[in-house]
Amino acid sequence: ESVIYWMRMQDMRIHDNRAIAMASSQAAQDKIPLIVLFIISPHDFEAHDRGSRRIDFMLRNLSCAKAELDKLHIPLYILTHKPRKDIPRKVLELMESWRATHLYANIEHEVDELRRDIQLFDLATKQNRQCSFLNDKLVVEPGTLKTQNGKEYTIYSPWQRKWLETLNNNLDRIKEAPSPSANNPATRDHSVYGPLFSSPVPEFVEGFQLATEDKARMEKLWPAGTEAAIEVLDRFLHTKSRLSQVGDSSPLAPGAEKSDTKSRILVYADDRNRSDMDTSSRMSPYLASGVISARYCIRKTMELLGKKTVEGTRGSGVGMWVQEVAWRDFYTHILAAFPRVSMGRPFQEKFAGVKWETDKKHLEAWKEGKTGVPIVDAAMRQAKTQGWMHNRPRMIAAMYLTKDLMIDWRLGEKYFMEQFVDGDLASNNGGWQWSASTGTDAQPYFRIFNPYLQSEKADPSGDYIRHFVPELRKLKGKVLHDPVSHMPRHEFEKLGYPRPLVDHKVARERAVRRYKTPGEE
Ligand code: FAD
Repeated sequence: ESVIYWMRMQDMRIHDNRAIAMASSQAAQDKIPLIVLFIISPHDFEAHDRGSRRIDFMLRNLSCAKAELDKLHIPLYILTHKPRKDIPRKVLELMESWRATHLYANIEHEVDELRRDIQLFDLATKQNRQCSFLNDKLVVEPGTLKTQNGKEYTIYSPWQRKWLETLNNNLDRIKEAPSPSANNPATRDHSVYGPLFSSPVPEFVEGFQLATEDKARMEKLWPAGTEAAIEVLDRFLHTKSRLSQVGDSSPLAPGAEKSDTKSRILVYADDRNRSDMDTSSRMSPYLASGVISARYCIRKTMELLGKKTVEGTRGSGVGMWVQEVAWRDFYTHILAAFPRVSMGRPFQEKFAGVKWETDKKHLEAWKEGKTGVPIVDAAMRQAKTQGWMHNRPRMIAAMYLTKDLMIDWRLGEKYFMEQFVDGDLASNNGGWQWSASTGTDAQPYFRIFNPYLQSEKADPSGDYIRHFVPELRKLKGKVLHDPVSHMPRHEFEKLGYPRPLVDHKVARERAVRRYKTPGEE
C-alpha cells in the first residue's frame, strides 16, 4: 500500500505545503510509503496559454524539489500525459498499481482543474480510495469571506478589510505546515514499484522548448527553488533598492546594500510605483509556482516588525506590501466565485459588446515594443527579454493596448501569459480586466492613463526607458518620455525610433465613446 501526494505546477515546494504534510503524516501513521506524483500535461499548458519560460521554470523547480525529496528517500514519479481529459483515469490507474489508499493534492482553482479533480474524486471513491484536496495557494481560502448579506465581495477594499480581520482573528491560517518526514526505512525499497522512479526530470517539454540563449538568461535571472525564493524575499525585507538597477540582473545579483531602516519593504509605500529601481519584491514567479508559500511571506513580515498580528493597512510599507499579497488572494477569490472571467467573459457583462479594433500591425507593434510610446515600448521589451515586468508598466502597457489601440484585452491577456515566468490565470486576468475597465473594481472606463504622464511618474530618472529602448539612450528629461513632441522633426528621425501609432487624445475620445455605448461605434 502507499499514499500519494500529487504535486502541481502551482505548489512546487516540499516545506510549508499542506498536501504533502498531510500525505506524509498519513503515510507515517499507516507505516506505508509516500510517493510524489507530478504530471506534465502539455494540453493543459496549451489551454492556459502557458509559455515556454513558465514551463522551463516549472522543470527547474521540479529538479530542486526532486533533490529535496531524494534526501528524504521519497520517490518522485514524473509522467508526461496526453490527452488531458484522460488524466483522472490515468491517476486512478496509478493509484491501483501502487495500491494507494489515499491521494492528497492542493487545489488549483481554475475551472478545468476543478473538474478534473472532481472526476478523480468520483472515480476513486467508487474503489474505496480516498482523495483529499486542500487550500494551500491562498492565505484565506476562497469562499470564506462573504458580505453581511452573505454575498460575494466584488470590490477589493471592503474585501481586504475583512480578509485582514479574518486573518488576525485566526492566525492559524498562516501557521507553517509541518515538513514531510523521511520515508520510513522499511518502505524505502522502491524496487517494488518497478523502474518507474528512475525517470529523471526532463530537460524540456516538447513544444515548449526555450532557445539556448533565452534559457541561459532565464536561469540567470530567475534562479529556481525554494532556497532562492527565500533569499529573494530576504533581500526585499533587509536590503535597500539599487538605484541603477532596472531589473537587468537577477533579484539575487550582488550589490544589494543591507539596511534595517530603509529596506525595500519599509519604503514600499513611497517607492512601489517606480519601475526605474528595484522597488518591488520580484516574488511573483516564486509565488505563482508555489515555490514558496504566501503564508511564509506574511509570517516573515510579522517577524520583521516583531508583531503578533498581521500589518495589512495602507499606512506603512509593510502594510502596503501585504495588501499586494492580498490582491493575489482577491483575484483567485473572484475566479472561484465568478468562473466566467476565466472563459473570456468580462466580469462586467455590460461591456461584452465593446467594439475592438483588429489592426494586426498595431498588435504586432505593441508586442515588439515599437508603438512609439517610450514607456510602453520599454515595458514590452522587458517582457520579451525578461519574462517579467514591474506592476506599473504592466498597467500602462495593458491600458495602452485596450484604450489607445482599442485592441481586445483578451489578446493582451494571452500574450502576457505566453511571455511571463510568473503567469497566473487569476492575477493576469484580474490585471487585464482592471486595465480594460471590465473587471471587478476596475478603473472606470473614462479614467484613461495618459502614457506620457504615467511615464514621468514611473520612470523619473529615465533609466528604465534608456535601458530597454537603446534608440533613446542619449535622451534625458521630458523629451525621453515623449520624443516626437519635443524634438525637431529631423532630429527625431535620426533616432531610428517609430512615430506613435495613434494620437493619444484622439484615441482617448474613441475609447470613451465605445465604452459609453457598447455595441455602437
Ligand atoms: P510586489 O509588488 O512585490 O508584490 C508582492 C506579490 O503580491 C507579488 O509577487 C504578487 O504575487 C502579488 N501581487 C502584487 N500585485 C498584484 C496584483 N495587482 N494582482 C495580483 N497579485 C499581485 N501577477 C502575477 O503574479 N502573475 C500574472 O500573470 C500577472 N499578470 C498581470 C497582468 C496585468 C495586466 C497586470 C496589471 C498585473 C498583473 N500581475 C500579475 C500583478 C502584478 O503586476 C505582479 O504580481 C507584480 O508586478 C509582480 O512583481 P513583484 O513580485 O515584485 O510584486
